Amino acid sequence: VDGSEAQKEAVNYIAKEFEVSTENLRTIVKQFNEDIDKGLQRHGATVAMIPSFVQGRPTGQEKGKYLALDLGGTNLRVCEVNLLGDSKVTIHQQKFVVSNELKTGEMRHLCDYIADCVDSFLTENGSDKLDSDLQLGFTFSFPVNQTAINRGTLMQWTKGFDCHGAIGKDVVIMLQDSFRRKNLNVNIAAIVNDTVGTLMANGYRDPKSHMGVILGTGTNAAYYEKMEKILKWDHGEINVPEMAVNMEWGAFDNERRVIHLTPYDNKLDRESINPRFQIYEKLISGMYLGEIARNVLLHLIDRTLLFNGLSSIDLNKQWSFETAYMSTIEADATQDLSDTQHVLESILAIPTTTLIDRQIVKKVCEFVGVRAARLSAAGLGAVLSHCNKVEEGCTIAIDGSVFEFYPNFADNMMAGLKELFGDQIENKVKFSLARDGSGLGAAVIAMMAHNAP
Ligand code: ADP
Repeated sequence: VDGSEAQKEAVNYIAKEFEVSTENLRTIVKQFNEDIDKGLQRHGATVAMIPSFVQGRPTGQEKGKYLALDLGGTNLRVCEVNLLGDSKVTIHQQKFVVSNELKTGEMRHLCDYIADCVDSFLTENGSDKLDSDLQLGFTFSFPVNQTAINRGTLMQWTKGFDCHGAIGKDVVIMLQDSFRRKNLNVNIAAIVNDTVGTLMANGYRDPKSHMGVILGTGTNAAYYEKMEKILKWDHGEINVPEMAVNMEWGAFDNERRVIHLTPYDNKLDRESINPRFQIYEKLISGMYLGEIARNVLLHLIDRTLLFNGLSSIDLNKQWSFETAYMSTIEADATQDLSDTQHVLESILAIPTTTLIDRQIVKKVCEFVGVRAARLSAAGLGAVLSHCNKVEEGCTIAIDGSVFEFYPNFADNMMAGLKELFGDQIENKVKFSLARDGSGLGAAVIAMMAHNAP
């Protein structure tokens, strides 16, 4: 970054605060491994390690028509999934908006709304629902304490949801009740975490898939665990060797032991609707990265080191600096950073910006983004070492806009893995973009659940 001495000094100082050294990475992986073990041993651990009740792996030969429903991301999605075998599938889907009123209102209203969306989808798509119940895989991407493949109580809301009358309740029963009230012949065959869905969707195509990861609005991961290692399992004998475990890794380091938090992270956390929870998620995922960057920018503005000390009504608003803007800014290869100028001046209405201002903004996005990727690598590294996949290798299925669109995110994650395990890891571990976890994945799981003995 060019600019005055004061500007350089401030930016370098902040950049240092966001650095995650190789040594830090190792410390984080070590703690992560301990937390994985704790979560497998007992209920109620920080990294919850929730058995998904999904046993066995897909073969790609599964066939049949299933419904899938996805709540927990930006939109509510309803899909009709046609499994055709030979790893082939067709999916029809429709998206519905979930308003903030619904996200923070009564759970019953949210369930009724979901039922209305399913009803309208079935009406429009003319699905034949008369002769028998349609089987539905319900992707519900929040921490759920599962007691069966189609039973689970909500432990905690995350990602901006905060409905009343849901925590401690079985979300499948609540939604199935709404379906019944509206005379919908739809049976919720499985409740699915999006990470497990992503793992199964990718497994339908690639048998080496071992882990499913979300890097979108939030972040989380699932992987196949050996039954004998799930020490807390108390649902009776199971005669399969492994089960997908939903880690709920977004809660990692809620105790603030190993990840260094900057004042910009602490401000974000304090102002969030779930302070002190989901710390790891808040440093990594799309809902939060823009807000961390905004906090840094405001700090620089307040010290008159950026935009000549002037902000805008827009930039002053919480959440106004979207993570997607960071992608645009980091990808900006124009000489005068005109794409960055567009974001700052046209979208966010900053009165004027100099080239140096824009370089500083780009730099800020870069260190927030690089840190997110490196911290993600620590989580991947913990699972790879836990499962002895460093030598053997595997495919990691990843879904989410941050992974898909954020410049260099995948490369920065791989760089972190190389620092941890050496360069050869690149030839062993493959990242695979898996977009259809909550559609294909949920359908495969609904099928497995419905056909289970
Ligand atoms: P989901 O809500 O199902 O996780 P996505 O994977 O699309 O859906 O994630 C949405 C999140 O990704 C939002 O928080 C948004 O800020 C962020 N996002 C959207 N577009 C981009 C982009 N181009 N680059 C980085 N982040 C993005």
